[in-house]
Amino acid sequence: MSRSLLSSSSSSSSRRCCSSSSSRIFSSKRRHQQQRHQRHLGKRRQRRVPRARESTDDDDNNDDEKEKEHERNNKNNEDDDDVYSVCVLGAGPAGLTTALAMQKMLSSPLDTTKKPTLSRLKITVLDKNPNALDGNVGGGFNINGGAAVLEKLGVYEEVFSKNANALRAVLSRRCDIARTRLFEVDVEKEVRGDFLTNAKELLVNEKSGEVMAGTVMRADLSQSLRESLNEETCEVVLGCEVLGVDAESGEVELRRRDGTTTETRKFDLIVGADGIDSLARKCVVESNASSGDGSSSGSGNSSRSGGSSTSGRKEPIYSGIKILFGVTGVDDKPEDLIRELSDRTTAHQWFGDGAYSLVFTGGGENKKRHNLAFCSNEPLGSANSNPSWRANSSVTKEYAHNKMMKANMPADVLRLCLRCERFFEIGVFFHEPLDSWSSSNGKIVLVGDAAHAMPPFLGQGANQAMQDAYVLAKCLATCGADIKNPSKVNEALQSYSNTRRPPTEAIMNASRFVGALETGKGPVSLFRDLAFFVAGKFGITGKIFLSGATPRL
Ligand SMILES: Cc1cc2nc3c(=O)[nH]c(=O)nc-3n(C[C@H](O)[C@H](O)[C@H](O)COP(=O)(O)OP(=O)(O)OC[C@H]3O[C@@H](n4cnc5c(N)ncnc54)[C@H](O)[C@@H]3O)c2cc1C
Repeated sequence: MSRSLLSSSSSSSSRRCCSSSSSRIFSSKRRHQQQRHQRHLGKRRQRRVPRARESTDDDDNNDDEKEKEHERNNKNNEDDDDVYSVCVLGAGPAGLTTALAMQKMLSSPLDTTKKPTLSRLKITVLDKNPNALDGNVGGGFNINGGAAVLEKLGVYEEVFSKNANALRAVLSRRCDIARTRLFEVDVEKEVRGDFLTNAKELLVNEKSGEVMAGTVMRADLSQSLRESLNEETCEVVLGCEVLGVDAESGEVELRRRDGTTTETRKFDLIVGADGIDSLARKCVVESNASSGDGSSSGSGNSSRSGGSSTSGRKEPIYSGIKILFGVTGVDDKPEDLIRELSDRTTAHQWFGDGAYSLVFTGGGENKKRHNLAFCSNEPLGSANSNPSWRANSSVTKEYAHNKMMKANMPADVLRLCLRCERFFEIGVFFHEPLDSWSSSNGKIVLVGDAAHAMPPFLGQGANQAMQDAYVLAKCLATCGADIKNPSKVNEALQSYSNTRRPPTEAIMNASRFVGALETGKGPVSLFRDLAFFVAGKFGITGKIFLSGATPRL
C-alpha cells in the first residue's frame, strides 16, 4: 500500500507532470506525531464547522446549543464502529448525487424489505468554491440518463422537472446562405420507438409517461440536489479546499475559507468527485502505481504505470478544441432570437469551417436562459479547462461577436451572442482511461469527471457522473453490515468500476471523435457535412444520441 499524502500544491493546476516524488511522504514517526497533533486540532476546529451551510469566519459566535449539536455531529468518529463516515470531495453533479444516493441506499434502502446497511451514516461534502451553488455558476446541461437516476432516487420532480426545459429535437444545419439542413434528431421518437436498447424503459418516466430529456442550468441542479439531502446525515461545507488525501489511512487535509488554518480528518471512505483536475485521481493513480498494482493504474500495460508514465492518467489532455460559452439573462424571448423556430424545446446547431455553434434553452418555468456554445478548432492559448466555470472578464461581447462573425456564424447566433450576459472560455480537455477507479485498499474511489473527464460533444459528462454516483451507492449497499470490511468494500468498488468503465470509455471515445469531426477544417468539414447528411437520412444520428443517453446502471 502506498503512503502518499498527495497535496494539491504539489500537483498544481498547471498541467505539468506529477511524478510520484511530488507526493508528500511522511516518515512513520513524524507522521504519527503529526496525526496526533492534527487530530487534536481537528477536534477543536471541527466544533467551529457549521452543518450544511457555508463555512464563515463567524463560527466562533456559535451559541452553546449549536456547539453541543456540532460536537455530536462532528466528533472524530474513527473509533466509532457504528458510524460509516464518507468524505465527498466536490459539490458538483457527481458529489451531490453521490451523497444523495448513499443516503437513499445505505441508510434507508430503497427496497424496504431489506434492513438498513448500518445504523449511522455520516457524509461530509467539501467544496473549495464558496460560490459552488450560486445562480451564476456555469451554463446549461442536457440531462437524460441523469434524470433517470433522479427518478430512481425519488427526486425527479423536485430536482429535474422543476428545473428543466424539455429537449425534444436537435436540428443541424450548415452555415451557408441556404442553411442546408444536415440532420434532425427527434428525441421523443427515438426514445419511444427504440427497439435496440432499453431506452424505452429507462428514459420514459414511470409516473408521468414523459421522455426524460431536458436542459437544466448547473446552479439550479446543484441547489436542488443539495436541498434534497437529509441534513441529519450529510453536511455540505463550501469554501473548504482539500489540500491532501492519504490513500492509506483515509485522512483528508483541508483548509477552510479563512485560509489560515488546516486540519486533518479521517474517514472510512473518500469519494473523489473533484472534477477534471482531481486531487483524488492523482492519489489513486500514484497509490496504485507505488503499490505495484500496475494493472489498476494503467491501461493494462504495466510498463506505463508508475513514475512519470502515470502522468497521462493523472493530468487531463487538451483536445485541440476551445469553447466560448455564453448565457443570457432570465426571461429572454426566443422569438426574436431564432428566426425559424420560436420553439424552446429544439437545440440548434450550425456547422462552419473549423467551427460550429450550438444554441439551446435551459431552466424551468420563469427561469429560462438561452445558452450559446461556440466550438472552434484552435490552439489553447491562455485558456484552461475552467473547471469552476469562472466568467472570463477578458471575454467581452465584442470579442465573442467578432470571433463568431469571422467563422461565418449565422445572424441568429450573432444576435444571441449580443444578448448574453456572461461568457466562459473553456479549453476542452479529457482524461486517459484508468483500469480501476479506486485505490487498491479501497479507501478512495472516483466518480464523475475525476474518473473520466470527457469532451462535451455528446452532452454526457454530468449524465455519466450521476450514473456513477447511483451505481457506486448500489454496489456499496451490497456490503450490508460488512460495510467496514475492507475486502467486501474492495469487491463492491471493483464491481462499481467494472459496471461503469466500459460505457464511459465508449462515450469518451465517441465524444472525442465527434468533437474532432464537428470542428474539422477544410476538406474535413466537407466530409463532415456529407457524413452527417447521410447519417441523418439513415437514422444513425438518432442512434448515436440514444446510445449516449440510455443509462447503464
Ligand atoms: C461547455 C461544456 C458543456 C457541457 N455540457 C454538458 C451537457 O450538456 N450534459 C452533460 O451531461 N455534461 C455536460 N458537460 C460536462 C459537465 O459539465 C461535467 O461532466 C460535470 O460537471 C462533471 O461533474 P463533476 O461533479 O464530476 O465535476 P465538477 O462539475 O467539475 O465539480 C467538481 C467540484 O469539485 C470541487 N473541487 C475541485 N477540487 C477540489 C478540492 N481540492 N477541494 C474541494 N473541492 C474541490 C470544484 O470546486 C467543483 O465544484 C459540459 C461541459 C462543458 C465544459
